[in-house]
Amino acid sequence: MDKNKIWGTTLRALEANTTPLSYNTWIAPLDIHHIEEDTGIIYLAWKNDSKLLKHVNDHYQPLIENEINKSMDKPYRVVIKHEKSFEVSKIDTTHMTNVSNQEKLFNPRFNFENFVVGNSNKYAHAVSVAVAEAPGDVYNPLFIYGGSGLGKTHLMQAIGVHIIRNNPETKVLYVSTEMFANELIAAINDNKTRSFRNKYRKVDVLLIDDIQFLEGKEATQEEFFHTFEALYQANKQIVITSDCPPVNLKGLDERLRTRFSWNMIADIQEPDYETRVAILMNLVEKSDIEMDADLYDVLCLIADQVKDNIRELEGAYNRVVGLSRLLGEKITVDHAKNILKDIIKDNEQAVAPERIRSIVANHYKIKIADMDSPKRNAEITLPRQVAMYLCRETTDLSFPKIGKLFGNRHYSTVIHAIEKIENDLKYDNELKTNIELIKAKLQTRK
Ligand code: ADP
Ligand code: MG
Repeated sequence: MDKNKIWGTTLRALEANTTPLSYNTWIAPLDIHHIEEDTGIIYLAWKNDSKLLKHVNDHYQPLIENEINKSMDKPYRVVIKHEKSFEVSKIDTTHMTNVSNQEKLFNPRFNFENFVVGNSNKYAHAVSVAVAEAPGDVYNPLFIYGGSGLGKTHLMQAIGVHIIRNNPETKVLYVSTEMFANELIAAINDNKTRSFRNKYRKVDVLLIDDIQFLEGKEATQEEFFHTFEALYQANKQIVITSDCPPVNLKGLDERLRTRFSWNMIADIQEPDYETRVAILMNLVEKSDIEMDADLYDVLCLIADQVKDNIRELEGAYNRVVGLSRLLGEKITVDHAKNILKDIIKDNEQAVAPERIRSIVANHYKIKIADMDSPKRNAEITLPRQVAMYLCRETTDLSFPKIGKLFGNRHYSTVIHAIEKIENDLKYDNELKTNIELIKAKLQTRK
């Protein structure tokens, strides 16, 4: 591939598409520096004042990328850097894996657009966006923690991708703690600790995933401590994830634990029902599958059964969709139940909810049928809500199913009822006593 020829063709096209003034000011001082085949990036060198570089990037990069690609047989990304900055990165590459190669480590799905925000993660999401918008400026270090499969890696990579998109020049390095540790060991064995240090201390943004793996690894902790210090002193953004908050990282040097707590600590909780459904809906939207009532019921079923891990939630969905496709069958609740036999605890004992309804009605001295009626006076609403709450607590019925049992109510009414009771239980002692009494009755009278 002859870069001069490619650039020549591109220049002629750009000249025809811009005014002579813009062309001379913003295009002519550019040249192709090199083409990186494996990453699909064409690097252009800007040979004028570096202060003008941002303007070129903001206003001409898309146009140039578009034109260049007309001469290429596959799509390339165009990255414009100041000519001087290539000299620096040349030194880098002799010692280290080129940082731009690290971009390949990002999962293309892990961006902010694909991240569903709910109560369980909205805080972590908000601070991540803030960091992605102004790395090094707002929350540094940012420490995100939460259980497995709840979206830590997704959020962390979304930060990286956002920063690279906004400013392709930023050196963003994503690394799992395990990779960091293994690389360090390899570097020590090969007498290359200097280049190891260079690699990590020259980045603008360090995203280090699953820091709990540092526990008990003293030499790696020591090295990481110095990396942290160097980056932090230079105002470089550090983002850390972990499966627990810093205080619980008992096998970690105290100095690290304190540093992790210096600024922002955000947690991700298990997603609530609505968020789980929204995540599944998002998967449907991103695919070519058409949404219909059956599929919606299937999503509710999955969301109802898989509660504490989004990876497993997606896994269950993919199994249902994949198998239905393979068999050429429409996705229905019955099929889904069959496919997900191993994870579904389908305890629809017909008696259980009826017993709850009758005992609650009896306790509050109302008719069972009142629970199904549209009546909204307190004497009826409270028992209805208590019965819904107990159905949820003592059976495996989903919200939509409980809704159906109570005069075909929408599942959001059920959720509201349960939340209300849970809330009232915090201070309403009379309610507490009543519910305890009803539970006792549920257990004794068979
Ligand atoms: P963790 O690193 O916390 O173990 P991941 O970030 O790997 O979890 O997330 C597991 C899976 O769940 C990934 O496929 C990810 O895309 C998905 N996921 C997690 N949280 C969300 C969310 N809020 N919206 C959409 N997908 C999510
Ligand atoms: Mg992870």
